[in-house]
Amino acid sequence: MTDLNTSRFASRADHFREFHRLSLSRYHSYSELYADYLKTGMRLFDMPTGIVSRIRGDQYTILAIEPGTTGLITGDTLPLGETYCSVVVSKDSTMAVTHAAEDVAFNGHPAYRQMQLEAYLATPIHVNGEIHGTLNFTAPEVREHPFDEIDIELIELMAGRIGQVIEQHQVDRERRDAVKRLRDNIRLFESAFEYAPIGMALVSPEGRWLRVNRAITKILGYTATELLAIDFQAITHPNDLDTDLKFLCEILAGERDTYRMEKRYFHKDGREIWVLLSVSVVRDEQDNPEYFVSQIQEITAQKRAEAELLCRQKELESVNRKLKLLSATDPLTQLGNRRALDKRMQEELQRSSRTGEPLSLVIVDVDHFKHYNDTYGHPAGDVALRKLAIALKQVARITDTVIRLGGEEFLLLLPHTDEAGCYTVAKRLSRLVSKLDNLEAAITVSTGGATLIPAIGTTHIPEADALLKQADDALYRAKQEGRNRHCQSPLLTC
Ligand code: GH3
Ligand code: MG
Ligand code: MG
Repeated sequence: MTDLNTSRFASRADHFREFHRLSLSRYHSYSELYADYLKTGMRLFDMPTGIVSRIRGDQYTILAIEPGTTGLITGDTLPLGETYCSVVVSKDSTMAVTHAAEDVAFNGHPAYRQMQLEAYLATPIHVNGEIHGTLNFTAPEVREHPFDEIDIELIELMAGRIGQVIEQHQVDRERRDAVKRLRDNIRLFESAFEYAPIGMALVSPEGRWLRVNRAITKILGYTATELLAIDFQAITHPNDLDTDLKFLCEILAGERDTYRMEKRYFHKDGREIWVLLSVSVVRDEQDNPEYFVSQIQEITAQKRAEAELLCRQKELESVNRKLKLLSATDPLTQLGNRRALDKRMQEELQRSSRTGEPLSLVIVDVDHFKHYNDTYGHPAGDVALRKLAIALKQVARITDTVIRLGGEEFLLLLPHTDEAGCYTVAKRLSRLVSKLDNLEAAITVSTGGATLIPAIGTTHIPEADALLKQADDALYRAKQEGRNRHCQSPLLTC
C-alpha cells in the first residue's frame, strides 16, 4: 500500500513536472506542439492513442493523432455524432470513461459499436470562450484504475494551454494583419498626398511648411527642401498676406475651421501666380491647432482669361458708348439728330414748366435747295449744309441746342427765350447765311418759330410734337409768304 502510494505520489509529481515542461516549451508549428502534448498525455494517462480534433458544426477533423499507425491520419474528417467527442461537446465538459461497455452514455454510442474503445479521457479545447476542438485519449482495453481528479485536472490544464496558444497565435496574426493594413494605408495616404494632382501641404501654426507634395513644388518652382526652409508668408504677395493671416488668426482663435481664398504667391522665378487656396485645421485632443492642411490649385490661366474678358468688356462698353453717341449724331454736320432732340426737348419742357421760363424753338429750312443740288451737284449741296450747320452753331448760345432734323431742315431749341428772342435769333441766322462764302451760289433760309410760356409748376406741359407742329406751321407760312423770312406761331401758354 505504502509502495503504491509512494509510486502514485512519484507519478503525480511527474505529471506536474511534465505539464510545467509543456507550458514552457516553444514550438515552431502546431504539429510539433500537438505531437508533444499527445505523446506526453499518452504516457502520463497510460493510454495508447491520442487525438487533437477541430470541431466545426457537426464536423470532427483530426488535427493530430498519435501514434501514426491507427489507420486515421491528420486531416481526416468524421461526423461529430460518430465520435465519443459528441458527448464532450454536448456537455461541454471533460469525460473520463474506464469501461464503456458498462457506461450507459457510451455503450450505445455509434463509436462504441464501431470501434469498441473501452477507455476514454477527453476534454474540450476552448478558444475565445467557444469550443474549438477536443484533446482526447482512448484505449481498446478496460482500464484497471479509474481516472482520478489529478488526471482530469491535468488534461484540462493541457487543453487550456493548447487553447491559449491558439488564441495567442490568433491575436498575433490579427495584430500582424492590422499592422500590415496600417502600413498599407499609410503607404496609400503617402502616395495619395505625394502624387495628388493639386498642391498639398501641411503647415505649422506659425506658417512653416512641414510637408509639401510634388504638385506644390511644380506650382511654386521651389524644391521641397527649399520650401521647408521658409514659411508661406515669405512667398505670399503682400496684397494678399493680410487676408490670409486674418483667416489663420480666426482659426487659431477657434472661430472657424476652414477657409478658402484666391491669392497670389511669388514663383521662384519671380512671377506672380494666382492660386485657389483651401485651408483646414487639424486639432489635437485638447482642441489646439496642431497643423493646417492646405490645398493649392493654380488658377493663373483662369485669372488671365478673366482679366482679358474684363478688358474686352470695357472695350465693348466704350464702343457701345461711341455707337450710342454716333446714333444720336448726324454724320454730315456732327449736329445732334432727331434722337438727340427728343431727349433734350423733354428736359427743357420740364425745366420750363418748373421755372415758368419761356421756351422757344425755330425750324430752319433751306429755300429751293433741290434746285441748288440739281444745279451744283450733291457734294456741293453737302458743303452748303455743313456751312449752314456752322452758322447755326454761331447763332446758338451755350444752353441752346442745334439739331439736324433731316435733309435741309434744322432746328434750334432755345431755352429762356421768348418770341422776341426768337425773332432776334432768326434774323441773326438769316444775316449769317447771306454772308456764307465759298458756296456755288448764295442760299437763303426760311424759319418758323414757336414759343411756350408755362405757368410756374404747371402739370399740363404740352407734348413736344405739339410745339414742333406749331413751328412747322409757322415755317410753312414763311414759305408761303415768299421764303427767306421768319414767321412766328401764336404764343403757347399752359
Ligand atoms: P423749299 O424752298 O420749298 O424748301 O424747296 P426745296 O427744294 O428746298 O424743297 P424740297 O424738300 O423739295 O427739297 C429738299 C432737297 O434737299 C432735296 C434734296 O435734293 C436736298 N437734300 C436733302 N438732304 C440732303 C443732303 O443730305 N445733302 C444734299 N446735298 N442735299 C440734300
Ligand atoms: Mg425741306
Ligand atoms: Mg427747302
